[in-house]
Amino acid sequence: MTANPTRLGAIRTIEASEAPAAFFDVTEKTGAIFGENVFSLSVMQKRLPKSVFRSVYATIQRGEKLDPAVADIVASAMKDWAMERGVTHYAHVFYPLTGLTAEKHDSFMEPVGDGTAVWEFSGKTLVQGEPDASSFPNGGIRATFEARGYTGWDVQSPAYILENPNGNTLCIPTIFVSMTGEALDHKTPLLRSEAAMSEQAQRVLALFGHEDIDKVVSYCGPEQEYFLVDSAFVNSRPDLLNAGRSLFGAKPPKGQEFDDHYFGAIPERVLGFMHDTERALFRLGVPAKTRHNEVAPGQFEIAPVFERANLASDHQQLLMSTFRSIAKQHGFECLFHEKPFAGVNGSGKHVNFSFGNGNQGNFLSPGDNPHDNAQFLVFCAAIIRAVHLYGGLLRLSIASAGNDHRLGANEAPPAIISIFLGDQLQDVFEQIAGGGATSSKQKGVLSVGVDTLPDLTKDAGDRNRTSPMAFTGNRFEFRAAGSNQTVAASMVIINTIMAEALDFLATEIETSVKGGTEFNAAVQAVLAKVVEQHGAVVFNGNGYSEEWHVEAEKRGLKNLRTTVDALPEYQSPEARKLFTTYGVFSEAELESRFEIGLEQYVMTINVEANLTGEIAKTTILPAAVRYQTELATNVSALKAAGVDADTADLLRVSEMIAALRAGIGALDDAKATGHDHEGLAEAAYYRDSVLPAMLQIREAADEIETFIADDLWPLPTYQEMLFIR
Ligand code: ADP
Ligand code: MG
Repeated sequence: MTANPTRLGAIRTIEASEAPAAFFDVTEKTGAIFGENVFSLSVMQKRLPKSVFRSVYATIQRGEKLDPAVADIVASAMKDWAMERGVTHYAHVFYPLTGLTAEKHDSFMEPVGDGTAVWEFSGKTLVQGEPDASSFPNGGIRATFEARGYTGWDVQSPAYILENPNGNTLCIPTIFVSMTGEALDHKTPLLRSEAAMSEQAQRVLALFGHEDIDKVVSYCGPEQEYFLVDSAFVNSRPDLLNAGRSLFGAKPPKGQEFDDHYFGAIPERVLGFMHDTERALFRLGVPAKTRHNEVAPGQFEIAPVFERANLASDHQQLLMSTFRSIAKQHGFECLFHEKPFAGVNGSGKHVNFSFGNGNQGNFLSPGDNPHDNAQFLVFCAAIIRAVHLYGGLLRLSIASAGNDHRLGANEAPPAIISIFLGDQLQDVFEQIAGGGATSSKQKGVLSVGVDTLPDLTKDAGDRNRTSPMAFTGNRFEFRAAGSNQTVAASMVIINTIMAEALDFLATEIETSVKGGTEFNAAVQAVLAKVVEQHGAVVFNGNGYSEEWHVEAEKRGLKNLRTTVDALPEYQSPEARKLFTTYGVFSEAELESRFEIGLEQYVMTINVEANLTGEIAKTTILPAAVRYQTELATNVSALKAAGVDADTADLLRVSEMIAALRAGIGALDDAKATGHDHEGLAEAAYYRDSVLPAMLQIREAADEIETFIADDLWPLPTYQEMLFIR
């Protein structure tokens, strides 16, 4: 065990710490607490007049426009319900482009002028709020002096109560737009993209003869990976504290190579944390379902049951903030960074998605008869087309400085966006390309039904962990998203590119049917066309392999390795046409998102670079110099005593110190001219000059860590942070 006072102090603190008393009453019935703090449909049904409830229900379930007349009544019922639960304030909650969640709190209190006050909440304040927009990233859409921004109630995502020992707050999920209506958030484009997808999906459904077609929605089930590290360690690691990832740290003697953590028994202390977070989430109506250890030591996963994407996205944000705050109560820091520790697996967020509605079910589920199968294949074909044409946009949706450390690092899917269909579906599409599918592989039966398409089984076949976009039986799983990212960003792109593909397919089928082609033949033809034009994006092999990179290039697939490569996708003519055609982003919004992407990238690396320089200069270099002095003193003492002195260690440490100093100099130089560049050139400069200089420092520092006297090394080590809890 170390004798370094900082590290020893942290370890002693952990040894002495006790699990917090159960945060909630553990005897309460889980079933009874679910949704307890949510102003849900069932609460509304009990508290609202029938006609008002019906009107709100139509907005929530069918996307009908909200009747402004009902807002006052809903607000008043909401306030009564909330005040019965100790609520004093309400907050419009929104999702600005920082990727975090923002809240502006207001009290229900209204002074009446005679020295007293009443508690009020009007429809007007429920429906619209006005936080200052200038402090949020807007990419030049709003200048500070005209910084009005509006929040608008999203009726489809229920209000909920956030508890605090000192008082409770009513939270109302909202969109966030500028005075001129430009989206400044993630929710607005998500809602727009869903509407666009719905319109086109309904056309396809109508072609298949459905009547009574409901609004189509996208569903999303995000799997969230995260690390738990004891706060005592994090508090002595300025890098983890401020950048969320370690900028230093030699590889531990034991890493994840034994595979003994994945799905292993969950440590008791962590299980306590999981129970508390899940109970908190249940109260908020977040359907937390699955939990387990992940691949890396100290890494875990939680997956809620899938929900409508808009709600899933809000719930995902709520989940992350709940995890962060309950972790602290348990003496942990919850790390959502995509790569908190070099050399061990990073964290992703698997975005499972599908499309459907109440009447026609899930369109990505092969149904029970060939006719359903044909519709299912059309939706799959739409995904193939969408991903082939707009893989660059999918890559863009998950681009960040953090996720760059993960993509393509032989643990996460590569930056090349391809599709894995599984054996069965792959086989069907190959047959379609060859003139018509007549048999389904698993069953091996010949099915000559109402059309030329085979029966399909729901079994997805084997899994492929290396594919960024994999079919898994009744949904696709987009695996390239980073753990820290909002799922809304992925879902906006998925919905929009699906809208385009469904539009294309519907138009093709309509045109050929009008031209006299029989319906099934028209479907068959368009499926064959998609396979022919877009089959290149389908890849069932190992996405980690070097051969795939070569092969993908031959197939003309994009390999946008870094955020800097991906961001210009916002500006491509195809993207502009796509987003404006389907009303998801205006030209100005695209431009602002491009600028915000650049700004966030540069800011992130700049903070990391500052931290790297500071820690190297003020913590690591002094420790190394102390050790050097110790060795030098030893050498001179030995020489004075007339004993042969071995100077090898002293020379080695001196070399390492020289290397560290060289790195510090290189980083200082690199940073000095960073801001001479602008826009994309500045971001490229940070990637190509600042990041490598940081790495140069890290290499020297990590070498010192493995050589220096342990009691002199001041930073908690990887071994300690990953294994002690
Ligand atoms: P795995 O680790 O095997 O991929 P998990 O059970 O951990 O699977 O997570 C799968 C996620 O996919 C869950 O959130 C689940 O609710 C979600 N999911 C299941 N069916 C669908 C669907 N039809 N559409 C969207 N998400 C789905
Ligand atoms: Mg998964």
